[in-house]
Amino acid sequence: MQSDSTGIWYFECQVAELESYLLSLQRRSVIYPDECEFLLQHKNELQATSNQNTRGVVPLCHRCVTLIQKDNLIEIIVNREQEKIDHVTQLPLRVALLRQIEIWYQTSPNAITGICLVELDGFSNINDTVGHATGDSILFEIARRLERYNSHKFKLVRLHGDEFALAVTNMSSHEEIWGVSKWIGDQFEAPFNTQKGAVFLTPSIGMSLNINTNGEPVSLLECAYVALNHAKSDPLTREKLFNPQHEQKIIRQVLLESQLNQALDDETDLEIWYQPKQSLHNMHISGLEALIRWRHPNDGLISPGEFIPLAERTGLICKVTDFVVKQVARDLPTLRKQGFEGMISINISANDFLRPNVVQALLDIITEQQISTSDIELEITEGAFISDFDHCILLLNSLKEAGFALSIDDFGTGYSSLSYLTKLPVDTVKIDMSFVRELAASTQARKVYKGMIDICKALDFKVLAEGVDHDDQRAVLKDIGCDSIQGYLLSKPLPLDALVGYLLATCNKTPDTE
Ligand code: C2E
Ligand code: CA
Ligand code: CA
Repeated sequence: MQSDSTGIWYFECQVAELESYLLSLQRRSVIYPDECEFLLQHKNELQATSNQNTRGVVPLCHRCVTLIQKDNLIEIIVNREQEKIDHVTQLPLRVALLRQIEIWYQTSPNAITGICLVELDGFSNINDTVGHATGDSILFEIARRLERYNSHKFKLVRLHGDEFALAVTNMSSHEEIWGVSKWIGDQFEAPFNTQKGAVFLTPSIGMSLNINTNGEPVSLLECAYVALNHAKSDPLTREKLFNPQHEQKIIRQVLLESQLNQALDDETDLEIWYQPKQSLHNMHISGLEALIRWRHPNDGLISPGEFIPLAERTGLICKVTDFVVKQVARDLPTLRKQGFEGMISINISANDFLRPNVVQALLDIITEQQISTSDIELEITEGAFISDFDHCILLLNSLKEAGFALSIDDFGTGYSSLSYLTKLPVDTVKIDMSFVRELAASTQARKVYKGMIDICKALDFKVLAEGVDHDDQRAVLKDIGCDSIQGYLLSKPLPLDALVGYLLATCNKTPDTE
């Protein structure tokens, strides 16, 4: 007999069958392992009072499972009044999970406790394709598969939607949580047979352990959520264990994203610094590369190495590019007044290539700021071409036709296929700074570099060497036919004021005196 409207379930069994019956209730998650264990331990007390037709064993620590002996029958009362059961999966909910963890923490404070938070990949698509009723039957089946977990004290709940949590305690080591996660993954190997056919599902799993939390049950769950988010964003693995650095990193990333967005809207705290390039033909400053800097109100100067990847992930990179083009256009008249005649290079990210109207967007800013496309060179890394090469070629051709000069940045580090080079409508190849390091000391490095220069020359590209920080490197590069250089030897990137001073000093020097 059972009554789930009141939350109280009654079961009867023969005294002799008590043990196996309790274990079967545990298997069905009607009672939980710790409750089962408690009742089995107190079975003898029950027998001691067997002559009385009264309550034999009362409450377990959380007061919801009771045994009553009546002659040769035992009545088992499971009171789930406070523990609402989810009607789709017949599993308890979040509150029951937190209560169970709290009990574990109180009764065995030194035990290793962990949670595996399970989310199904693409479950909303399943609902859309097979219908909600079938979706519900799959969730029911998942609950049945997961409740088979049997080797430790555990609690299985449905959190909401397609999220389940399996909490486990008394683990023998921290590493064991990985075994639990693997076991969960294995439960998804067999398809879910529905009236509409077999459905295959994979889970993402976020794990957390009580060593990393502050003793609050909810903190164990929240850490598992952080790990789950981490797992979902990693293309290589769908299971992640919470690491305290994740949380700080994620909180910082979320904060930085909104602050960067604000800074871009307000055009505050963002600066453009410039790094000179030098021609090895006449030793003049032949160009400048615009490099963005973020002067964060609390954290000081943040390197583009940190916030550019964030901007790329979040789509803010398009706003970054627009800001840089605009600011470069504003700075250009000042630079021209100092006698600077070259082009300014702007870094374009792979994601800019996904903008449907990137060419027009750039042209609009250039026209509005009253500069010419011939003032600007766009630097594109090899990585931008990997996804859709033909689309990239079309875009590069349109940018070229619009009058921009084009260069390949960090050449040699990414795609690095020579065959693609022949198809690119670019003017300059910037050889990555990793190739320059050994240049002065190693004849092998020199041969490799010369080989790259010769290939680029054969294809009519100009060659710029990045990361030149020693005079002897520059001498070698000049010797092997490199056209221009950039690097700390000339200058680090400089803010506009300092650059003006730099240009004043260098442009007044006579050529070939370097
Ligand atoms: P990048 O385009 O390869 O820029 C060159 C980076 O190398 C700059 O770092 C520069 O300061 C550094 N560098 C230049 N010469 C030397 C040298 O001799 N030795 C060493 N060790 N480093 C040198 P920065 O300014 O921190 O920029 C890092 C990267 O951030 C850039 O690499 C670029 O990929 C990205 N970035 C910077 N500004 C922008 C921007 O406005 N838009 C986009 N999309 N990306 C940007
Ligand atoms: Ca660059
Ligand atoms: Ca570069």
